[in-house]
Amino acid sequence: MKDFVLAYNIGDRLYLNITNRCTNQCAFCIKNTERGVGYNLWLEREPGADEVIGSLGILSPYSEIVFCGYGEPLVRIDLVRKVAGYLKKKCRKPVRVNTNGHADLIHGPGSVVKLRGLVDRINVSLNAHCSEKYLEICRPMFGPGAYEAVVKFAESCIGVIPEITLSVVEWPGVDIEKCREVAKILGVNFCLRKYGG
Ligand code: SF4
Repeated sequence: MKDFVLAYNIGDRLYLNITNRCTNQCAFCIKNTERGVGYNLWLEREPGADEVIGSLGILSPYSEIVFCGYGEPLVRIDLVRKVAGYLKKKCRKPVRVNTNGHADLIHGPGSVVKLRGLVDRINVSLNAHCSEKYLEICRPMFGPGAYEAVVKFAESCIGVIPEITLSVVEWPGVDIEKCREVAKILGVNFCLRKYGG
């Protein structure tokens, strides 16, 4: 497989791969499985914003551009800002960030404000109905309190990012209805994903 893949498509979406780093170690992460997405997404080094922009190619075929990849994109929130700013000038495609919701733990409170006007959709991985389950499944480096911080981060997106979704991977022991209730209380979208889906 080709190495140093910064942009790849699945269907009509373009995905941007900007870091391997993540503040979780989820049991279901593709980094921990033999499967993948059909590309070698491991980055030998982290790309600069110019390199990511240079990898975009022609954008017209895509319905959406998504910061996703092997790691947690908001570890590099300043790079996301630069590339999303470029995309906003270059095309009218919606820009989405798939995140573990740790941005405030990494960068300090109110971090999502940096993405205002640049990101249209944010998908925050909740992945558990309570703190204990989150610690067990996602194994956050921040330890206890990380789950509450994820919920708080999702709440902080309200009024900043136009479309907010809490997502959960179907996993043994996770109470999906309780997760759905968290999204309902916040007033954001909810998405249930099949493991590997
Ligand atoms: S948050 Fe995403 S990238 Fe990080 S360990 Fe979990 S599944 Fe992997």
